[in-house]
Amino acid sequence: MGSFDGKVAVVTGGASGIGAATAALLAARGAQVVAADRKPAEPADSVTPWRCDVTDPGSVRALVDGVLQRFGRLDVLIANAGIWRQRPFLELSTEEWDEVLDVNLRGCFLVCRQVARAMAAAGGGSIVVTASTNSTIAEPDTAHYNAAKGGLLMLVRSMAVDLAQFGIRVNAVAPGTIETPLNRAALAESDDAFAFPPAGRWGTADECATAAVFLASGEAAYITGTSLTVDGGQTALNGTAP
Ligand code: NAD
Repeated sequence: MGSFDGKVAVVTGGASGIGAATAALLAARGAQVVAADRKPAEPADSVTPWRCDVTDPGSVRALVDGVLQRFGRLDVLIANAGIWRQRPFLELSTEEWDEVLDVNLRGCFLVCRQVARAMAAAGGGSIVVTASTNSTIAEPDTAHYNAAKGGLLMLVRSMAVDLAQFGIRVNAVAPGTIETPLNRAALAESDDAFAFPPAGRWGTADECATAAVFLASGEAAYITGTSLTVDGGQTALNGTAP
């Protein structure tokens, strides 16, 4: 994978799980990385923690302005912040619907719009959105999450079309079941090896990071508006690959 020497990257949800792994991999490949999160982690080599709530337009503006002021450029965005909630459809409250859509879909829009404005002014950049296999599989009891992730795929395609003229590429990574703090408790409860995908295990955050960093890199220069599924074969098995 290409080098990110001299590049500056922002990873939202960068304090945990897939975001933290992606921030670390981008840093290992030479980028200065800002790990933006509602609950920022400790600083690490070339990874600067930054407090940001992606649902708050003022917080998002402050993030982008602050990064440009401090690092002078912004080449890569990994729009990854997300929450996962489960609730049977008939019991789903309006507040629960709003919370999940607010973080997972509207939050992604707010961050991508702000970053894309900066990238367009600078002549280009690369955006990778963390979607999900739930973008195409209707996992039971997660209508709000599924709807948000389905919307993300179309947002990615729309941004790819609208932003290509500014030299900005936009792609998605669609993880299957990846063991992270987001779902560790639920996975421990289910303990059902038969639910494994064909690969016979859950995926790792590092495996998602590798896909995201490839899409963000110059090696993917002609790839835009698409989605790279990282799911151990789950969507190949049930015919729902995006
Ligand atoms: P995680 O809980 O380990 O990390 C998510 C991070 O996002 C956390 O650090 C959290 O503080 C941050 N965050 C949440 N709301 C925020 C907000 N409003 N503003 C800023 N930061 C916020 O979870 P993860 O598994 O690493 O998930 C990362 C992304 O991957 C999410 O978008 C999730 O939907 C997606 N995803 C995960 C899986 C999986 O199986 N783990 C599968 C498909 C997609």
